[in-house]
Amino acid sequence: MRRPLIVGNWKMNGSRHSSIELADNIARHFSAGDGRVECAVCPPHVFLADVASALGGSSVGLGAQDVSQFEQGAYTGDVSAAMLAEFSCTYVLVGHSERRACFGETSSQVAAKFLAAQGEGLTPILCVGETLAERQADRTLEVIAEQIDAVVEAAGLDALTSAVVAYEPVWAIGTGEVASPAQAQEILAFIRARLGEKANTVRLLYGGSVNAENAAQLFEQHDIDGALVGGAALQAEQFMTICQMAET
Ligand code: PEP
Repeated sequence: MRRPLIVGNWKMNGSRHSSIELADNIARHFSAGDGRVECAVCPPHVFLADVASALGGSSVGLGAQDVSQFEQGAYTGDVSAAMLAEFSCTYVLVGHSERRACFGETSSQVAAKFLAAQGEGLTPILCVGETLAERQADRTLEVIAEQIDAVVEAAGLDALTSAVVAYEPVWAIGTGEVASPAQAQEILAFIRARLGEKANTVRLLYGGSVNAENAAQLFEQHDIDGALVGGAALQAEQFMTICQMAET
C-alpha cells in the first residue's frame, strides 16, 4: 500500500509574510486521515527557515524547489543539498519543467542534482513530462523514457525506487488544462513499468493544473499516488481539500 503524497510547489510567489501565513494555516488544518496522507510544501529557498518554524511540530513536510548539483564551492547563487538538509528539508524537486525550460537544465544535470540530493539524505521528487509539441508528434513515451533513463544510468534503478517521480505534462502546468485521468494513468503506468520489479512501492505523482475540482478523479487511478500542486497550493483551503481527497 503506497501512502498518498501531496506536495505544494509555491514557485517564486508570495512574500516572507504571506509564506509564513500560508504555512501556518496549512499546519493548523492538516489532519488528512490521521496520517494516511502525507503532505509537504516547497517554498522559495529564502523562506525555508521561516516556513520550517511556522510548520513547527506539525506533520507537514518541507521541501525545496531546486538543489545544486555540486557539493560546495564557487557556484554563485546555488544552494547545496547539505544546506537544504540543515533547514529541515526532506524533499527536493529536481528537473521541474520550468528549470528545464527557463534555465536550460539537461537530463544529465537533473541526474547530478538527483544524486546530490540523495547523497544528503533528501528524497528527490524527479519531475518528468513532455511538451505539447512532443505529444502532438507522438513522442511522449520517448521523452519520458529519456528523462527517466538519464537518472537510472547515473544513480541506478534502486536509487530511483527510493525517490518520488512526478509526471507533469508541460502543457498542463499552470495552464488550467489538466491531463485526463486516463492520459495521466497511461504515462504513470509506463513510468512504473520502467522502474522495474521494485516499482510497486514507488510513489508516483501527477502534476499539472490539479485543483479541488479535478483531484478526486485523478486519485482514482491505480498508478496515481498523489499530486504535485502549483497554483492551487497557494490557497490553504484548496490545498487541504486536495489532501483530503487523497485519503480515500
Ligand atoms: C507545478 O508547478 O509543478 C504545477 C503542477 O503547477 P500547476 O498546478 O499550477 O499547474
